[in-house]
Amino acid sequence: MLILVLSDIHANLEALDAVLDDAPAVGETWVIGDIVGYGPEPDEVVERLRERGVIAVRGNHDAAAIGGDEIDYFNEDARRAMLWTRTVISDRTRAWLTALPERVVREGFTLAHGSPRDPIWEYVTTTPVARASFDAMATDHGVIGHTHRPAAYLNDDGVMSFMTPAEGSQLVFGTRRVLLNAGSVGQPRDGINTAAWMTLDTEAGTATWQRSAYDIAAVQAAMRRVALPAFLRDRLAYGG
Ligand code: ZN
Repeated sequence: MLILVLSDIHANLEALDAVLDDAPAVGETWVIGDIVGYGPEPDEVVERLRERGVIAVRGNHDAAAIGGDEIDYFNEDARRAMLWTRTVISDRTRAWLTALPERVVREGFTLAHGSPRDPIWEYVTTTPVARASFDAMATDHGVIGHTHRPAAYLNDDGVMSFMTPAEGSQLVFGTRRVLLNAGSVGQPRDGINTAAWMTLDTEAGTATWQRSAYDIAAVQAAMRRVALPAFLRDRLAYGG
């Protein structure tokens, strides 16, 4: 089956729609958390995902949006954006976010926002942390988000390696143990300002990373209209 993997959409509907326009027809869409927070259109993003019947897990921003004390750990800009998000989301959005699990096992993959070990908060940015994630998951393969940077960690019988996929990169993993990060749709932080996404072909055992350009200025204008923090607007332009 071909699977579309989206992570860290962060209420950026322009970016999400650009990705959905570019993506091939797929059997399933997996969403690896942080669906809301930072961006200007949380209800619209959730509605799009609901219509599509996605399989999704909860991120730290989703947990905060439904009232969780995760907000206490946010920096000032993230906190301001989250307080706004809490006031605008509909009951329907809140109920959908509340129903999200922290982990899902599907097609031989563990789906978790931060890491399989600590789904809400842990950042997998080093091979020792990745190794701990492999130890914490029952499947050979995992999909994560949270860092907003595309990445792949490989574990060949305990020998760890790492790659930073570029646009168009394909990894043939087959039966090897891998932990894959699609990057962020709505707020990339790898120095590239286009929306990041990934497809998985579970029969071929391949992952392919892609990018989609979107109307950044339109999102910034929408953020300005609702007075979201300037830094959160500005960073979209440089992908940092
Ligand atoms: Zn995020």
